[in-house]
Amino acid sequence: MVIDLTGRTALVTGASRGIGREIALALGAAGANVACVATNETLLGEVVAKIGKAIAIKCDVSKPPEVEAAVQKTVQTYGGLDILVNNAGVTRDNLLIRMKEEEWDTVLTVNLKAAFLFMKIASRPLLKSKCGRIINIASVAGIMGNLGQANYSASKGGLIAMTKSAAREYASRAICVNAVAPGFIRTDMSAKVDPAVVEQAVAAIPFKRMGEPAEIARAVLFLASDLASYVTGQVIVVDGGMAM
Ligand code: NAP
Repeated sequence: MVIDLTGRTALVTGASRGIGREIALALGAAGANVACVATNETLLGEVVAKIGKAIAIKCDVSKPPEVEAAVQKTVQTYGGLDILVNNAGVTRDNLLIRMKEEEWDTVLTVNLKAAFLFMKIASRPLLKSKCGRIINIASVAGIMGNLGQANYSASKGGLIAMTKSAAREYASRAICVNAVAPGFIRTDMSAKVDPAVVEQAVAAIPFKRMGEPAEIARAVLFLASDLASYVTGQVIVVDGGMAM
């Protein structure tokens, strides 16, 4: 079966760069209309131009009125919403003993609360869809924990637990709610990591390499498609064997 998302509408947060960009491109290539959400308008413009059937929505996902407006704009433009991908994420790494409250709050707000807001606000159009999908981008850190990432791991562990709760709540309406947990992927986020730490991390990955954003996008494409119609409440780990 070829994946065909023609006639469906997706909203992807953090679509301006990295993993979110590749997810937006993959969904667009499969025929979906794509609402691309992020704060960097220049980069969003480039992604939208590449997809064609897409709109750019400037939105800080940590601000509830902007989340509300983003969902509204998508529904107004395309008449509904079928696929929600909560991908926007940030890191503020620090050892727990030194971690500032602000570092905790920022990461929990962008990575976890924003996903809650999008799921809540988008629930009406998603409930009207005949093929509703919510896909949350978690991390292996949310499963294994990670040194210097108490805030980030907590946000991703929370995202996984929220995914499972939502899967139970939406099951009666046949909306599939799943998470993808990437390992170590080559993006701006991982470029901030100390090269010595990268080397050590790659050595511990059975595949002995970092993953590429497109490799995460393919798992999302599967979950967004009819191929995944009986898959819900799951976490697909895409990590070259890192967390097994
Ligand atoms: P990235 O290259 O740093 O991109 C992050 C994206 O999130 C950007 O598009 C950014 O857009 C958006 N974003 C951040 N804060 C935002 C805000 N307040 N409002 C709106 N958009 C915001 O990161 P990435 O590596 O692609 O990560 C994507 C997701 O995968 C994240 O959830 C991350 O935790 C997860 N992940 C990544 C890795 C990895 O190794 N890279 C591993 C596991 C999980 P703007 O800058 O335009 O606002």
